[in-house]
Amino acid sequence: VVVTVGDELLFGQTEDTNGSWLARELSRVGLEVVGRRVVGDDGEQIREAVGWGLDFAEVVLVTGGLGPTPDDLTREAVAGLLGASLRLDPGLLRALERRFRDRGYGALPEGSKAMACVPEGGVVLRNPRGAAPGLALESEGGGLCVLLPGIPVEMKGIFKPGVEKLLESKFGSRLRKILHREIHTVGVPESILMSEIQEILPGGPEGVDLAYLPDHLGVRIRLSAREGDGPEGAPAALERAEALLNPVLARYRFEAESGDLAEAVGAVLLRRRETLAVAESCTGGLISKRMTDLPGSSQYFLGGIVAYDNRVKTGLLGIDESLIREVGVVSEAVADAMARGVARCLGASVGVGVTGVAGPGGGSREKPVGTVCYAVSYQGASIVRKELFLGDRGSVRERSAHAALGLVFRVLEGREG
Ligand code: ATP
Ligand code: MG
Repeated sequence: VVVTVGDELLFGQTEDTNGSWLARELSRVGLEVVGRRVVGDDGEQIREAVGWGLDFAEVVLVTGGLGPTPDDLTREAVAGLLGASLRLDPGLLRALERRFRDRGYGALPEGSKAMACVPEGGVVLRNPRGAAPGLALESEGGGLCVLLPGIPVEMKGIFKPGVEKLLESKFGSRLRKILHREIHTVGVPESILMSEIQEILPGGPEGVDLAYLPDHLGVRIRLSAREGDGPEGAPAALERAEALLNPVLARYRFEAESGDLAEAVGAVLLRRRETLAVAESCTGGLISKRMTDLPGSSQYFLGGIVAYDNRVKTGLLGIDESLIREVGVVSEAVADAMARGVARCLGASVGVGVTGVAGPGGGSREKPVGTVCYAVSYQGASIVRKELFLGDRGSVRERSAHAALGLVFRVLEGREG
């Protein structure tokens, strides 16, 4: 159970990031989080919440209210609940006094001495980033209470490795770590991915949790396995689940440590010894930006032309004025001509062209805002797509850049046509 203390959390002025961070860390370490509470700076509320937690959990972690001010009541409240008296720890007091003097604050104020008080039988957890140490104490029933300061960097600094070690020595092999594996996909909506997976594995992979994590650029699949849930161990369970899903995933997945598709595009360009040039209209350089964000990209990324005005499309890229007049600048034919044109201009083996209506103005009935045409030319052929992306200007531009990168990736991986 995690209890976070502070009026500012209760009233919503401060986001309870400690609570979610601790819940995540506890799951990682292998403890199941069964409850969370937020309470105000109030001794009675703190006692009640910690008592509630000890009733059904083996560990209660508390953050906040360990400082020197009168609204810091956690130490006293929890000691009271567990029937432990507080005594001043002379070693801690000296360390606090030294800390104060070293920073030029002079003598330690009376109120700050509370930070050197330790409940009887309690263990002090060193705080490398602040004044108030963490404290750990056991209840009569054997429940473990861990008190941590509210300031996030201090709380984290004590948790790792102090609290983690404490939990490992208390629970040992009973800790059942959760392992995750994330698989990135491109070019497939969540609904189709889900139905294709259900077709081959109606009940999902056994003993492994499968989650779909979509955002505006794609869908990640997260596989999670808990150590001890199956006979084979979590790494093997993940391995098996991935192998079962791979017939579907192989068509869509890409590998990128950063999670960015551009990294996978860079890797395949490098592997195949190809070079890339891009002609961007509505994306205004976003693709070039993403490619050049990658260190070492000069090995495969030659450059880009922001062909915003039609004169750049005709003058630099050599597109026929009559073509633009006949089919319109946002068209598959112009995207294709941009891709071929820039590859020729810059001497690249792969060319990309993107032209679209990013909005908010400029839309029409046949070509509403969000209409985007993009093309990849490679080995004498072109693959062209026309799509309607939803969202505001920024979102349409980002999705366009991403879709074009996705097409480059699929073409080079031989997954298109
Ligand atoms: P200290 O001992 O350093 O005074 P404390 O234990 O008294 O710390 P608080 O006074 O409760 O902690 O909070 C200190 C700061 O940390 C505040 O700015 C508060 O907004 C922030 N904080 C406290 N709890 C949380 C939380 N659960 N999530 C995010 N921030 C928090
Ligand atoms: Mg405080």
